Amino acid sequence: MTANTGPLVIVGGGVAGLATALSAAPRPVLLVGNSMAGSGGCTSLAQGGIAVALAPGDSALSHAEDTMAAGAGHNDPEAVDYLVAHAGPALRWLESQGVNFDLDRNGLQLGREGGHSHNRIVHAGGDASGLALLLALARAAQGSPHIAWRPPATLDAVLVRGGRVAAVRFTDTETGRPHETECADLVLATGGCGALFSATTNPPTADGNGLGLALALGVPLRDAEFVQFHPTALDIKTDGPLPLITEALRGAGARLVDDAGCPIMDARHPMGDLAPRDQVARCVWEHRQRGGNVWLDATELSRDWIWRFPTVHAIARRHGIDPRRERMPVTPAAHFHMGGIAVDLDGRTGVPGLHAVGEVACTGVHGANRLASNSLLEGVVFGRRLGRHLADSDRGLPRSGAERWIDRGASADQCNLRGLRELAWECLGPVRNGDRMAEAVDGIRTDSQVRDTWQGKVVVHLLQAAIHRRQSLGTHFRDDRPRPVRTRAAG
Ligand SMILES: Cc1cc2nc3c(=O)[nH]c(=O)nc-3n(C[C@H](O)[C@H](O)[C@H](O)COP(=O)(O)OP(=O)(O)OC[C@H]3O[C@@H](n4cnc5c(N)ncnc54)[C@H](O)[C@@H]3O)c2cc1C
Repeated sequence: MTANTGPLVIVGGGVAGLATALSAAPRPVLLVGNSMAGSGGCTSLAQGGIAVALAPGDSALSHAEDTMAAGAGHNDPEAVDYLVAHAGPALRWLESQGVNFDLDRNGLQLGREGGHSHNRIVHAGGDASGLALLLALARAAQGSPHIAWRPPATLDAVLVRGGRVAAVRFTDTETGRPHETECADLVLATGGCGALFSATTNPPTADGNGLGLALALGVPLRDAEFVQFHPTALDIKTDGPLPLITEALRGAGARLVDDAGCPIMDARHPMGDLAPRDQVARCVWEHRQRGGNVWLDATELSRDWIWRFPTVHAIARRHGIDPRRERMPVTPAAHFHMGGIAVDLDGRTGVPGLHAVGEVACTGVHGANRLASNSLLEGVVFGRRLGRHLADSDRGLPRSGAERWIDRGASADQCNLRGLRELAWECLGPVRNGDRMAEAVDGIRTDSQVRDTWQGKVVVHLLQAAIHRRQSLGTHFRDDRPRPVRTRAAG
């Protein structure tokens, strides 16, 4: 880095961090992630793909309408317009970075997912879209001279000087040693917080630590109460992530059924099994609360099962199920955080030099419920915008003013973390209740071993946001409040 260039540090090697880093050229970038290049995080697990309006009769306007309807109208319209208008360019950019999307004889193959009024999900490697995308972007980043990719390390603290970001501190994964480096612009692309729930599709790295750091820095979060629950995680006993059964299977004709084999969604929503995720997740949750099981029946799907859904096939077989002949037991699970660090469309937070992008950030684009396959798209579209913005806005390092290191805070031990995750699932899951959430806040506040940890603080923040939103909206469903009038029946 040249002497008068303010160092740019990007934390997180998922789709959002990589898109930002690649687009910041020629500004030098130090890219840091706590897992090996091309692994870890949610991006590598994404199955369905990326939403782009390409089919005859489809349009960016229709994509925007579906996004707003799924988000219960709580979305930021400017962010939605930007997302859908830049979906086509994002797709072409991904192709130019080496992502090979699946084709059929008409061109790009377009899948269907819940809440979409057209077939518009492009995918790669069948249902291994995220991994294909991540590997291509990681390769492109490794071949880019402006990007220096640091060996795995975890961001722990930020130095603020004169009210601006001035340096960061990492812990090296291999040696456990701390490292400090100057930093004029810091991008948090650290992913979501699903791993704070005991039932989740997210890997342990999606633990909300970026939100913990933001809270320590006094940076506001937005829409923190809105967590999406995927209706179909494979129901197995594990402390780790539950394997996801992609919604694209329902798009291809798989049905959600009860123990007697009766479809559960037909009477619930005009779009049946492809109703918006929040509604399907609640229906599955309610069946299970009543003591029944819910199954995904994909036995009627065509013969190209293994070719189209190799990931789901391998997952099911690993758990002793042949999904071509047997139904798969499913449960809802925390999947995606619509809320996050409040940012504008250029990824700016309230603290000069601190930016956020991807799932850790909230532009308001997803509203109260994300439309399926809009989040890889968000990472690419807003990552590219932020990268270009940072390439042009290098202000150099702050040299004067009061300075203070701010770290995320103490971490909960394994035992307390397990209890906290169960509490989050029971109180902040698909069906919420004001009294139960208030009791949960009191419980955390009276236990110093949880209260004083960053995980405890993030969960309390989510609970308080959910308590303050007294009406049900999107994924935030309260059984102690009347339902709002929906803006559109389907979405
Ligand atoms: C099972 C599953 C399936 C999905 N399917 C789809 C889909 O089909 N389509 C779609 O659009 N979306 C899908 N999603 C959602 C989508 O994958 C994520 O929203 C998106 O990948 C988030 O990208 P990201 O770059 O923000 O975060 P991530 O990909 O999670 O990357 C964050 C990175 O930051 C690192 N990190 C975190 N904290 C630190 C720290 N303190 N220091 C250093 N590094 C840190 C993590 O290790 C990780 O590598 C799916 C999610 C899951 C879990």
